[in-house]
Amino acid sequence: MNGAFMRAFRVAVSLAVVVTCGVVAPDARSAEPPKVVLLTGGDPMQAAVLMQTQAIRTVLNAALPLGTETFLDTLDGLRFGGDLLTPELFALLRKKYAGQRIDLVIAIGNYAAEFARTHHEAIWPGTPVIVTSVPEAWLRKTSAFPQTFVMIPYRIEVGKTLAIIGALQPSATHLVVIGGSAEMDRRFSDEIVEAAAVNGRKWAAIERWEGMSAQELRTRLARLDKHTSAVLYGTQYRDNEGRRYFPFELIDKIAGDAPVPIYGWYANYIEHGAAAGAVYDLAENGRNTGEVAARMLMADAGTTRPDVGASTLPILPARCVANIAVLRRLGISESALGPDCKWLNAPHSPYREYWKEIAVVIFVIGAQAITILAMLNQRRERRRAELDAMKRGADLTRASRIATVGELSASIAHEIGQPLGAILSNIDAADLMMQSEGPNASELREILTDVRRDALRTHDVIVRLRALLQKQAITFTPVAFDAVLERAISLVHPEARRRGIVLRTAFGTRDAQVLADQVQLQQILLNLCVNAMDAMENAEQQDRELSVTTRLVEDAVELVVADRGVGIEDTNVERLFEAFYTTKERGTGLGLSIVRSIADAHKGNISARPRPGGGTEFTLWLPLASSGADHTLRHTDAPENV
Ligand code: ADP
Repeated sequence: MNGAFMRAFRVAVSLAVVVTCGVVAPDARSAEPPKVVLLTGGDPMQAAVLMQTQAIRTVLNAALPLGTETFLDTLDGLRFGGDLLTPELFALLRKKYAGQRIDLVIAIGNYAAEFARTHHEAIWPGTPVIVTSVPEAWLRKTSAFPQTFVMIPYRIEVGKTLAIIGALQPSATHLVVIGGSAEMDRRFSDEIVEAAAVNGRKWAAIERWEGMSAQELRTRLARLDKHTSAVLYGTQYRDNEGRRYFPFELIDKIAGDAPVPIYGWYANYIEHGAAAGAVYDLAENGRNTGEVAARMLMADAGTTRPDVGASTLPILPARCVANIAVLRRLGISESALGPDCKWLNAPHSPYREYWKEIAVVIFVIGAQAITILAMLNQRRERRRAELDAMKRGADLTRASRIATVGELSASIAHEIGQPLGAILSNIDAADLMMQSEGPNASELREILTDVRRDALRTHDVIVRLRALLQKQAITFTPVAFDAVLERAISLVHPEARRRGIVLRTAFGTRDAQVLADQVQLQQILLNLCVNAMDAMENAEQQDRELSVTTRLVEDAVELVVADRGVGIEDTNVERLFEAFYTTKERGTGLGLSIVRSIADAHKGNISARPRPGGGTEFTLWLPLASSGADHTLRHTDAPENV
């Protein structure tokens, strides 16, 4: 049952109890279990009856603290006719219940309902009655029930079953209506014919097969064609020859080899070989009836009953049920049935059985896939950002190097200009000598030697400069620490001279090798030296001394650049390495932060400290290159990403 119907049903049950319970409440307080009469119109062994009586009993015994004492009385009017035994049954029941206190009567089906309406006051005076399992259409047509009756009707939704026929056999134009010859059977057949006539679809012919034996029905069904004919079975409690049936039994006899599907609206029809139908769930109706009964029996003694007449509870909806095995045997596709249609005898389908679990798994996998894709995308973005940062870092490092070299430009110009001047003088001297008589060959050779030396010196400076300024890939290779630094210090010498600073060098690592990019190593040295010279700008003559020392320490090398300049505060050391920290008027504050990044990229470190006696000392520490390994790294591994 769907949730909305259940809610509506419970609310309605509460209301129904309010209007009827005043009658039952006093008994509900006694210590004995309440006594309930179940009055059935059909045989109690008939599945339709059995399902309901069992459901009613189960619900009552579960809901009531003392359970119930139930009495089952059957009229079997469905097969014997309503009036046949009525006087005798009435007499029997009156005698049976004389002097008995009965708390509730539950009449199941039309015959029982009518019997209760006529005789309840004589048999069970003052006892409330529930009438259940009666068709709504019949209820509308029949005369009114007393106010103490609670009605639980159902609707034979012939229209819904006809719609199912339309979906499964769209080309059928001939409708056969099978029904028995009992009064109830005829009523159902009438109802089908009426509904088919107003149903949206135009039937070319509607034929009634009434009260036929199973044998005759089988013969007739065998002649039908599933493309043109559809068969709808109401009930057959009796046939024309007086044989009595439970309606589902006929389905058993005729459906097995019929070449056309047979439709119907009881669950046990579909279970016994009917193809499909809008099914009225008898067990569910039984449970609903049990709930209503339990509430009535438990109702509060003080509740008063307003005079509102008999109350009618919401109608149980019919639901599509299809026997897939039958449809497949007949070659009819079930795909036209809606997703809410319940399948019986369907071949095992993991998807249909476990679709909820499968949906959850698909959802989880989908969510995981989306998360993974998002993470991959994030990673790609981060990598791109890292590469961008790396490139910007490399550009910045080079820009800083160019700026440092720029600071040396005056002395470098001098360093180049001086040998060029010497070359010129030597050329002039040689020229003069050539003009004189008998030039001295050995002197000329000496001049040429000087010219060559000066030209090489100039060339050397230019080569070193170009190496520093060129844009080139960064390569980490094992290099001799001292040799690399010595080449760079040659550019510092002229600047120190120009500034009146004594430059003392002591290269003491011998041939120790480090894994480094030469240009970046030289950049560190130049930067530290230029800073040191700046710090000594105003120093006294005796203090203007810059010392550059290298040494081996265990498995590493150290470069120490020390000056006697303005010095630094002990507490201020780490700030020097922060980007944009500068005390200089035209400083950028980037030099030392880049130096530290280069040191990090070389797996080394750089530190600064005040020097005893004044000045500052910077120490670069780098690990030695491990022997035998392939030391060459390319740009992307640990490049100028500083
Ligand atoms: P910049 O040289 O452009 O200022 P740096 O990052 O190279 O940038 O230096 C940052 C600051 O560190 C300098 O402005 C200076 O105050 C200080 N500094 C660097 N080297 C020394 C030194 N040898 N002695 C004293 N202060 C120094």
